[in-house]
Amino acid sequence: MSRPPDAGPVSTGPIETPAGARKPRIGEFDFDRSPFIVIWEVTQACSLACLHCRAEARPCRDAGELNIEEAFALLDETRRFGPVLFVITGGDPLERPDIFDIIRHGSEIGLRMTMTPAGTEKMTRETILRMKEAGLVRLAVSLDGHSCESHDKFRGVEGSFDWTMDSIRIARGIGLEVQVNTTVTRFNQDRIRKIAEMLAGEDIALWSVFFLVPVGRGVKHYMVTPKKHEAVFHELYDLGRTMPFDIKTTAAQHFRRVLMQRAALDRRRGAPGNGGGPRPLASAPDFSANPAGNGPTGTGPAGAGRAAKGVNDGMGFVFISHLGDIMPSGFLPVAAGNVRRDSLSGIYRDHEMFRALRQPKGYAGKCGYCDFQDVCGGSRSRAWAVSGNYLASEPYCTYRPRRPGSDRPASNTYRGEAHAEAGALSRDEVAAALSEAD
Ligand code: SF4
Repeated sequence: MSRPPDAGPVSTGPIETPAGARKPRIGEFDFDRSPFIVIWEVTQACSLACLHCRAEARPCRDAGELNIEEAFALLDETRRFGPVLFVITGGDPLERPDIFDIIRHGSEIGLRMTMTPAGTEKMTRETILRMKEAGLVRLAVSLDGHSCESHDKFRGVEGSFDWTMDSIRIARGIGLEVQVNTTVTRFNQDRIRKIAEMLAGEDIALWSVFFLVPVGRGVKHYMVTPKKHEAVFHELYDLGRTMPFDIKTTAAQHFRRVLMQRAALDRRRGAPGNGGGPRPLASAPDFSANPAGNGPTGTGPAGAGRAAKGVNDGMGFVFISHLGDIMPSGFLPVAAGNVRRDSLSGIYRDHEMFRALRQPKGYAGKCGYCDFQDVCGGSRSRAWAVSGNYLASEPYCTYRPRRPGSDRPASNTYRGEAHAEAGALSRDEVAAALSEAD
């Protein structure tokens, strides 16, 4: 796909400016025209050796990484999409000495720059201050345990937990917004609440809970079962009532279904929940999505009604590898083009893989007829990683939607456990419960 002439911004919303800009709202984006989030893996170099690393990071930089001119060209082209979020990831972005120039350029042209450095000794006060001064608006750090022992074991380097906790406190001390990323695996699946409780005292804006996709060093054996996925979703919903930060999931789009189902059940029972309770829960479909704009990262009490436009791989989301390959996600490493020769917007809008990913009705199996497909659709990455087909059904979802033409109601294989009743509510029942409460 050749590089077309600049078609200008595609967002229908206001264009963000570097100074005093508000966060873009997800509803301002037409996902067929523009992603909400662009993620660039600036390098795969990293001094950590995380058990589950998607990038299979290694100690040294690759000679084929995009250089600084190519980096600026990528940022400039991304800006033509409109006020998208730009996430710098790795490896460890701090392995690139030009990273502050990259942040500064993105910020100066009006992108909302965020970054996910590795939890290493490089995260000093001076470095974090430089990030902020260059224009970074949010720092995202990874934390997979509530203690040195549990986190460092996972990350493969002693000291990572302390460096990470220090970086959170330094960032907050200088007024930089912080997001914490946690990957749920069989190693920490029963410590989710402990991690949340520890984070409650750290003044973070968002807790992003990743569910492992078996790519890179992350193998299937590390994943939690489908039922455990469902159980953790319910736990996150409950935590969302009391935690002083927003919660969202990554690579677990079916959490949005559980959000809607639990909110409906809570309302039906008159329970104080996220459908009207004291604490709004993020239904944010992806990184700092801001559908309602009324929470720390854009969440609000409408709960069930706010995930109407779900980000998914290739749908509102695009990933660029350290070599410039354009992919639907870092967890779905199928290259559709390369920014060195192709137009990012052309690939995102017109490549057949991206177009197919944005058509849930064309998905195979139950995700193709599920009544929640417009808010969920399942993780396309996990479908690809497990089956080899990115249009296959999400293999780790316990919901069984009603088949077209069948009288058999929706059900859920997550049975006999807390909140199982909610998990079997169909979209119509969710809608009915919410309208009864109005
Ligand atoms: S069946 Fe697919 S679309 Fe429906 S809730 Fe499960 S993952 Fe989502």
